[in-house]
Amino acid sequence: MKTAIKTVRGVHDILPDDSTTWQYLEATARRVFAQYGYRELRTPLFEKSELFARAVGATSDIVEKEMYTFADRGGDSLSLRPEGTASVVRSFINNSMHRLLPWRVFYIGPMFRYERPQKGRQRQFHQIGCELFGPEGPLADAELMAMVMGFFRTAGVAGNLSLEINSLGCSECRGPYREKLLVFLNKKMESLCENCQGRMERNPLRVLDCKKPGCGEVAQQAPHMGDNLCTVCDEHFSGLKSHLTLLQQPFQVNPLLVRGLDYYNRTAFEVTTDALGAQNAVAAGGRYDGLVAEMGGQSTPAIGFAMGLERLVLLLEQGRVVQPEPTVYVVVLGDVQGAESAGLLLAEQLRAAGMVVEMNLTGGSMKTQMKRAGRSKAKFTAIIGGREMLDSSVVIKNMANGEQSTVTTAEAVVHLSSHIDQRKG
Ligand code: ATP
Ligand code: MG
Repeated sequence: MKTAIKTVRGVHDILPDDSTTWQYLEATARRVFAQYGYRELRTPLFEKSELFARAVGATSDIVEKEMYTFADRGGDSLSLRPEGTASVVRSFINNSMHRLLPWRVFYIGPMFRYERPQKGRQRQFHQIGCELFGPEGPLADAELMAMVMGFFRTAGVAGNLSLEINSLGCSECRGPYREKLLVFLNKKMESLCENCQGRMERNPLRVLDCKKPGCGEVAQQAPHMGDNLCTVCDEHFSGLKSHLTLLQQPFQVNPLLVRGLDYYNRTAFEVTTDALGAQNAVAAGGRYDGLVAEMGGQSTPAIGFAMGLERLVLLLEQGRVVQPEPTVYVVVLGDVQGAESAGLLLAEQLRAAGMVVEMNLTGGSMKTQMKRAGRSKAKFTAIIGGREMLDSSVVIKNMANGEQSTVTTAEAVVHLSSHIDQRKG
């Protein structure tokens, strides 16, 4: 026997038993986001590598260590997208969407990062994200967070989620804060991990969210951005907090929540869970007022977030969404002349009337087929055998109580239509 080929490490099939849960989450997101005026943007799965180098940052972990980068046959360097914002911003610029502000879009799809696979962390994973271009004030930030948290509630996963927010300041106040932080960190140098020592001058804020215990202790005592905001940033952050309070949306200020890059400013937020161990972030987002200009567009304020679907599916696991069971199973006795054709036709007529129908396609005795009908969990079985062929009738069996009746094909369609499964898939 030949050896079977497996999937690439960290890359998984989503099997039919699970894909219903995925579809449920996607459909819920589409519905909730539409309520806020967001429409779907579908961008390519791969782009020029330089797009991500510029948008995500050439020195970020994602670009330095995690991208799937390859040369195409023409020698261009391309990368599978590691995240969604870069492409959305590119599309915003390419299509001159600054003329149509505000621009609200969402995306759903796979992302690719060469990471160490573990629970809730894959190499191909899936995100749903939203981006809002145009509005600059905290009203937009509050609306976006209300939408994210509203989605989690509607989807039924809000149970152990919490919203953490922080302000990263702006080009006015971050410079002086950065200097202050550097002075502090320089005194604590020996307690920091090697990685942080190396990147400290380039990006001291990154030390604040380093997961190493030594760095964590230093971060606790470090000066915080929140205490060093300029007046405009301070008002923005206060505005956001009072809007969230008005909406009765609980939140925690986490002064150690940071983003590594200069074009991120003011609001940063994360939605975390205590139910998934180390992979505790289910959504992350923030304001990036500087990014559009950085990418060559006309300067436009923007805010967005992305959430990881694998982690949401894990949260939903107990309450897995099930596929609706068939309404009708069609049993046809193959040795009866014309019965299979009659069954094929009946099944089509029932589907045309909106029913979920499974037909026996592999022959077998009456007993075998009735066993399959039972296994299919169909509510009704339609049986076509010798007697039914004589007068173009069909036997309908109610699988719950065993009652049987003989009706014409037309009657069968009408009769069974009244039992169409109304549950949402
Ligand atoms: P983490 O700290 O978990 O590595 P991140 O900061 O890299 O997350 P973002 O780039 O902000 O994550 O992506 C947003 C969300 O996408 C995360 O909160 C998480 O839910 C999900 N996510 C990120 N990377 C992965 C991955 N490799 N596998 C599964 N989900 C992921
Ligand atoms: Mg990561």
